[in-house]
Amino acid sequence: MMQQFLRIKAEHPQDLVFYRMGDFYELFYDDAKQAAELLDITLTARGKSAGEPIPMCGVPFHASESYLARLVKAGISVAIAEQIGDTATSKGPVERRVVRVVTPGTLSDDALLNDKLDNYLLAVNQHGDAYGVAYLDVSTGRFRLLEIDGEEALRGELQRLNPSETLYHESIFHPAVTGRQGARSQPAWEFDPQAARRALSAQLQTRDLTGFGCETPQLAVGAAGCLLQYVKDTQRSSLPHIRTLRLESRDDSVSLDAATRRNLEIDVNLSGGDSNTLLSVMDRTITAMGSRMLRRWLHRPLTDTGVIEKRQAAVQTLCDNYGYEPLRNALKPVGDMERILARLALRSARPRDLTRLRSSLQALPLVQAELREQSTPLLGQLCGIAGTYPALCDVLSTALIDNPPAVIRDGGVIAEGYDKALDELRQINSNAGDFLLEIEQRERQATGINTLKVGYNRVHGYYIEISRGQSDTVPAEYVRRQTLKNTERFITPELKVFEDKALSSKSRALAREKSLYDDLLERLNAYLADLQATAAAIAEIDVLANLAERADNLGLCRPSFCDQEVFEVVAGRHLVVEHVSQEPFIANDTLLDTNRRMLLITGPNMGGKSTYMRQNAVIALLAHIGSNVPASATRLAPLDRIFTRIGSSDDLAGGRSTFMVEMTETANILHNATPRSLVLMDEVGRGTSTFDGLSLAWAAAVQLARSVRAFTLFATHYFELTHLPETCPTMANVHLDATEHEDHVIFLHNIQEGPANRSFGLQVAKLAGIPGPVLQAAQEKLTELESGSSEADTTDAVEPTQSDLFGNGLTHPVMQALSILDPDELTPRQALAMLYELKAKLD
Ligand code: ADP
Repeated sequence: MMQQFLRIKAEHPQDLVFYRMGDFYELFYDDAKQAAELLDITLTARGKSAGEPIPMCGVPFHASESYLARLVKAGISVAIAEQIGDTATSKGPVERRVVRVVTPGTLSDDALLNDKLDNYLLAVNQHGDAYGVAYLDVSTGRFRLLEIDGEEALRGELQRLNPSETLYHESIFHPAVTGRQGARSQPAWEFDPQAARRALSAQLQTRDLTGFGCETPQLAVGAAGCLLQYVKDTQRSSLPHIRTLRLESRDDSVSLDAATRRNLEIDVNLSGGDSNTLLSVMDRTITAMGSRMLRRWLHRPLTDTGVIEKRQAAVQTLCDNYGYEPLRNALKPVGDMERILARLALRSARPRDLTRLRSSLQALPLVQAELREQSTPLLGQLCGIAGTYPALCDVLSTALIDNPPAVIRDGGVIAEGYDKALDELRQINSNAGDFLLEIEQRERQATGINTLKVGYNRVHGYYIEISRGQSDTVPAEYVRRQTLKNTERFITPELKVFEDKALSSKSRALAREKSLYDDLLERLNAYLADLQATAAAIAEIDVLANLAERADNLGLCRPSFCDQEVFEVVAGRHLVVEHVSQEPFIANDTLLDTNRRMLLITGPNMGGKSTYMRQNAVIALLAHIGSNVPASATRLAPLDRIFTRIGSSDDLAGGRSTFMVEMTETANILHNATPRSLVLMDEVGRGTSTFDGLSLAWAAAVQLARSVRAFTLFATHYFELTHLPETCPTMANVHLDATEHEDHVIFLHNIQEGPANRSFGLQVAKLAGIPGPVLQAAQEKLTELESGSSEADTTDAVEPTQSDLFGNGLTHPVMQALSILDPDELTPRQALAMLYELKAKLD
């Protein structure tokens, strides 16, 4: 047995092997040690090898799913080795074979997946600075190719797709790829484009790939070949639901780099969670597939205003007269059709998948009726694609009981009346009770033994039970089966005949039921392509109805796209801040056009600079997915890219320091932004010494305004930059203000023309309780600096500790005083940042 195990293990060095032994999956050696630790199960030993006990652990077969889920979540793949041979006839250990490999990127089981997330397997191929990417969601069949230029763009796409598993060409050493959880290096020959073309054509059942527009991108096709082979190796079954392949063009979407996706907190917040994100505010979809589609839309805003405007029209129509409400109600019975269909194709659909499919299909006529009421070209088109399936509804209704058990294994799934033979077999079973009572009555009379009973147990089958005192008087045809303490059990020829019939009818009924179930899967599979199209159309209808509901309930307006170079927002809001804050949100305007391309934003910390910048980027993003936006009016030219350079954190995995990250992102913006891009720059230059930082910020601002000419929002704490508009007419100053009221500062949060009041930092410091002598020294230094008599500041911007700044004695009161500012809002880190600014001035 160990030899057999080691042979299997040798073929799966990177996977844990689940080796089936009766009712358990067992793991051995290092696999056992790793699994015991990860799953918190007992590590024991079985037998010995070379005098050493063999480490072993096991998980029960029936509960294996939850263990698998935990392993897969930790990025580990599991090879499932099942017993293939017949236990009764085989000599030596029964034959075992790996029937599938469960890997994080190739899941289709409901229990192992998050229903709100696409689950991608991705392959990356490389040649020089060009990358070819293929990605596939096995749980839905979505299969796409992508060609990417440059590392920064690759990072952006990886951030967007967030694959669960990544296969990369062995020549790639880029940590953003190789450092991902579930990343596997693959040999170069796996990426051979010729072999890939052949394999892909065979899978998609086409002569070549021209129909998919995939003849040119060699690199991506190579990646797709590698990916497909991997899926075949792991799934070990045919994959009929993977029917099309699409080339995604990067020009079709507004490109967002990795930093921008993070900074805008699209679906993940800055702390890595999913609360208080744009998605969390915008997602009220009814179906899981709608939710996944909305997430994809938010990550891939479109450049084609034709498509955007069609979506806008649909949203508007659904908004009118609250048309979205009955439509959303009609969608409620719809299940996760995309994933159900994938399991159907993989022949792993469970009974409840089929009943969910049934309720989904039954919901279609009502959805159609609601849509017809409000048709626009897009809604009409989706309505047509969705179709209805009266025949399939009929089959599913007659075939399945209302609430079937989770698995087909023990039967009880197929409804009565669907199949005559099955009904007859079941009849024999259910009539058994009456028949046995009849025998009991008859035998009691014949023998005169009143305590005579007919019974059944699993080991001995049917029997007649008589107390031992009376057992001598039994008729001759009674054959003794079992003797217990007080009773004896007998069998009669009549009972034996019945037993054979009953037992065989039970197993025959089960077999019949399984075969009917398989036939049903087969029958549904004939409609796979149509049903997949229906699922996609329904998901889109759900997203559009969701956008209408959000537009109505969040007070969003329809943005208009125009040909002039303009980005204008009237009374714009930040959805998430507005959503979580107790205070009323102060709406702000933004105007950028040909003559006013950059706003230099100044104002005190906590004044609302970042909020203002981000709200504009989010408005731009929402506008490009076809959604309404949080403003009272918005007019904009279609954008090609949105860039953000906000905050700084070390990129530890990528091995880059804060300043390095800041400069890399800035360089990326300066290289790639165009006059059609929206750029947010927050506090550039913060990561280095004051003069270095100021100079870099200055130069970047000038470059963006003069050469790049992108629409730019540039927040800065360097007041020197507020002089730039004097020489660069396309720049303008705006600021956020605060005011004093009795003993506290009130941030007004409304944006106004002109630069901020320069001495404001000291006022805030005063209100925060910074002691008088310190403030006085600060004021003197400030006057000196303003008169230009200061010496060059060469201090490196190492973040100072509190005691560096004010000596140990003051530390505690200062922190306490600062916390008065706003105990909920001001973190010690922000307080330190304020002190740091103050120190810069004192220096
Ligand atoms: P800054 O970037 O200037 O330091 P933030 O943009 O981080 O300031 O804003 C600080 C806090 O002020 C936010 O967390 C939010 O609670 C509040 N805030 C910002 N802008 C507004 C606004 N327009 N209306 C209401 N509250 C706001």
